[in-house]
Amino acid sequence: MPLVSLNGVTKSYTTPDGGTVVAVDDVSLDIDAGDVYGIIGYSGAGKSTLVRLINALEPATSGSIVVDGVDITRLRERELRQVRSGIGMIFQQFNLFSSKNVKANIAYPLKLAGWSKADIDERVAELLAFVGLSDKAKAYPEQLSGGQKQRVGIARALATRPAILLADEATSALDPQTTHEVLSLLKRVNEEQGVTIVVITHEMDVIQTIATKVAVMENGRVIEKGDVFNVFSDP
Ligand code: ADP
Ligand code: ADP
Repeated sequence: MPLVSLNGVTKSYTTPDGGTVVAVDDVSLDIDAGDVYGIIGYSGAGKSTLVRLINALEPATSGSIVVDGVDITRLRERELRQVRSGIGMIFQQFNLFSSKNVKANIAYPLKLAGWSKADIDERVAELLAFVGLSDKAKAYPEQLSGGQKQRVGIARALATRPAILLADEATSALDPQTTHEVLSLLKRVNEEQGVTIVVITHEMDVIQTIATKVAVMENGRVIEKGDVFNVFSDP
């Protein structure tokens, strides 16, 4: 059974002038445990909407979304919070708390989840070592480079040991060298920690560097999907 399965998922928005925008249009795709699954498309293709649907931040208009065997389109808010706790997210602009140091940023989701101070200290130390920032625990985000900020973002997203990591344009604000470093780290997250990764991007390079499977989105639809090698092998 796939870890995430979308079946005929459509998401429409009503605009202030009474019109309708179909942001995601009859999308079906399966993400298996262990995949690094790329979703590529131009701006406006529906990628961010798809991420918000998978993360249960917005309800689908129709279709079903099954995460780890549970149809999340049928859940209440309380149960949705449970689903969301199994999904980590990283963002283009990193979304770190500027008033908290690195350690406090990474500890934040653990505090919310009610972990003890001793367990938090141990987990944060482990995560800092994994992302190579053990010497930056006391630093504030503004004192870090873009690549370092994203490594903190990755550590925070992984803190509660989610099965899935959603990366929404996670390298779009980074230069090519730093992009490469962050993608290498994501590959280690996938290979060493067994986390399933969904990579949203408008950059073909990112897909070819890290993804094993890909869905190509255009105007809300998936126009092609499959193994990266097969999808991009056409002349
Ligand atoms: P990107 O395309 O880089 O992901 P955004 O997600 O910010 O950028 O916006 C994509 C498009 O979606 C834009 O045309 C924007 O106007 C529209 N959009 C995003 N959020 C909303 C919203 N809450 N209401 C109306 N339009 C929105
Ligand atoms: P992408 O992430 O690929 O840039 P989006 O999912 O942001 O695409 O947007 C897909 C389409 O849905 C766009 O036409 C955008 O304007 C529209 N859209 C996104 N969010 C909203 C919203 N909250 N209200 C109205 N339209 C939206």
